[in-house]
Amino acid sequence: MDRLYRYRLTTTSGGNLSILEENGDLWITPAAVDKGNLSPRDIICVKTDERVEGPHRPSSEYPFHQMIYERRLDIRAVVHAHTPALITFSIARQVPDTRIIPQAHHVCGEVGYAPYALPGSLLLGETIAHTFAQGYDVVILENHGVVTAGPDLLTAFQRLETLDFCARTQIQASSLGTVNSLTDEQIALFQKRAARLPTFRPTGHSSRERELRQTICRMVHRAYDQRLMTSTEGTVSARVDVDGFLITPTGQDRKYLAIEDIVLVRNGCVEEGKRPSRAVRLHRTIYDGHPEINCIMTAQSPNATAFTVTNHPLDTKTIPESYVVLRQVPLFPYGEQYDAPEKISALLSKNTSVILIQNDTVLTTGTTIHQAFDRLEVADFSALSLIDTMNVGPLVPIGEDEVKALEEKFLGH
Ligand SMILES: [Zn+2]
Repeated sequence: MDRLYRYRLTTTSGGNLSILEENGDLWITPAAVDKGNLSPRDIICVKTDERVEGPHRPSSEYPFHQMIYERRLDIRAVVHAHTPALITFSIARQVPDTRIIPQAHHVCGEVGYAPYALPGSLLLGETIAHTFAQGYDVVILENHGVVTAGPDLLTAFQRLETLDFCARTQIQASSLGTVNSLTDEQIALFQKRAARLPTFRPTGHSSRERELRQTICRMVHRAYDQRLMTSTEGTVSARVDVDGFLITPTGQDRKYLAIEDIVLVRNGCVEEGKRPSRAVRLHRTIYDGHPEINCIMTAQSPNATAFTVTNHPLDTKTIPESYVVLRQVPLFPYGEQYDAPEKISALLSKNTSVILIQNDTVLTTGTTIHQAFDRLEVADFSALSLIDTMNVGPLVPIGEDEVKALEEKFLGH
């Protein structure tokens, strides 16, 4: 709950969560207690005989939590919140489209919809539990909010956070034009790409490798705190030496990433016992083709990603910082990043270090981890300004002569 509150996914008064134990005990957040300041002793236990243990009343939404567990035996944790982006869909009586980003679809699946009923009522419990019983793991509540569930609390939280990111991307993209969603066949390409690589047991870790592991973790945590990555989305890799690089793992919460989670890849073999990012082949192809590149990042930050789901060009001739840091930002067609990573690698050059991959991600490269991170941050900031400019007046880009002067001064042309 602290994490939900800190990342502005709930207010002081709204939202609640619960877990169900093996013995049938249901632990739930209390009613009318500050959600920004909960401690473990504030959490209430409801026994199977409805006896309540703890210093407060259980959440007034206790009925729907309990009814979801009754209808779906695989669910052991439930999270409910009123995040602004998901409320936007809830009050427009729509659901976000998780098919705009394959990762979001992979984490959340399709989105269910439960009609309005009075908060805390048995009828609300009925409609929500009925929607979960149809197999959904994320459900928009009409004129109310969202409920997500999973086999554990972290999974339920990750589904909520990922759906919120997806909703924000869709909202931002809607300002730019038609939002493209993927077909079943296109999404299947994403599922397929996690091909297993041979493994090896490292004999030692150089001091450079240890230092890079720390820097990668620091940057991932920073990208998470800056809301450029979520618990489930975002990859960082860094070159260790001529035939080895480090890459973040798949399926691990970005907020809690630790140095031992980072995966060493050497000559196409993966460190024993670890699962590298699904994009490992793409990263290897780029390192092989570009000795000057020492770091690669991908992220689905909502503002820049909005451009990938609309095919809207990202104009960098907005301010000197954007042009100097980003230069040109081409859009790469969806799907080919899996089958033909060499085509992405071929796009990268002195003038192209950032690529938008259609309906997927923002890819940045750099001679250092810091430079790749800066490019990611500048790309997302620039994208946000471009989207907001639509509400203020048409973009007036920097003129050709001014661009030439920037190139002479900063880019050595
Ligand atoms: Zn609510």
